[in-house]
Amino acid sequence: MTSHQPPLIACVPVLKDNYAWLIIEPSDGSAVVVDPSESAPVIHAADALDVHLSAIWNTHHHHDHVGGNAGLCERYGPIPVHGSAIDGELGRIPKQSVFHRDGDVVRLSGQEVLVLHVPGHTLGHLAYYVAGMLFIGDTLFGAGCGRLFEGTPEEMFSSLSRLREIPDDTLIYCAHEYTLANLKFACTILPDNEALKARLSATTSLMQPQGGAPLARTVPLTLREEKQTNLFLRWDAPDVMRATGETDPVRVFAALRRRKDRF
Ligand code: ZN
Ligand code: FE
Repeated sequence: MTSHQPPLIACVPVLKDNYAWLIIEPSDGSAVVVDPSESAPVIHAADALDVHLSAIWNTHHHHDHVGGNAGLCERYGPIPVHGSAIDGELGRIPKQSVFHRDGDVVRLSGQEVLVLHVPGHTLGHLAYYVAGMLFIGDTLFGAGCGRLFEGTPEEMFSSLSRLREIPDDTLIYCAHEYTLANLKFACTILPDNEALKARLSATTSLMQPQGGAPLARTVPLTLREEKQTNLFLRWDAPDVMRATGETDPVRVFAALRRRKDRF
């Protein structure tokens, strides 16, 4: 890491509850966009901020993460489109031109970006880790985690275990605003957990519609708070083991995920 000025982050709300993220390099006005569901709102935000898109980083192939790729490449020319080598082999990320495996390093101006392969939600799911920020797509959400569309509980558990090793002060930029719904679920599992009750009540007031004001958001999250209150990172906590009736970490995680799927 250099003494370089850290990148600035701008949120672009897209579709119903998705977030695309602009990572802006202040020195030259370029920006990377993470998971552009749609091109128009991203172009609009980039124009308003007077930045020029230099790359697209996709965490996975779902349409609500790559839907804007083609339109952005039309507008900005053949900019690099990053994604997983697995999704590349399956040809399911439009305009993909960079094919990552776990541990790849991408340069972002003065910074190194570490690419992590975190399968579970999908086979090829990636996270991008740079300067204390983790762009995590649909692997981890506020108080929740992604559904297991393609991966096994073992795979998602091992992905989440790796995330739990990352320092507490990391900011988590996920791709959906699901925090409030996830907290409501978590409180059905641990109704007496004080930290969860406090987070539910704070999040409920934050997300209260404020006549005409843009909707509040809970993202970025801190990894510290997620480690403390996200059940899907607390498989070894006695209260979570008790609530699921399981002791094996993968089985605790799998039991929570099944209950959330039915919630
Ligand atoms: Zn997804
Ligand atoms: Fe998604």
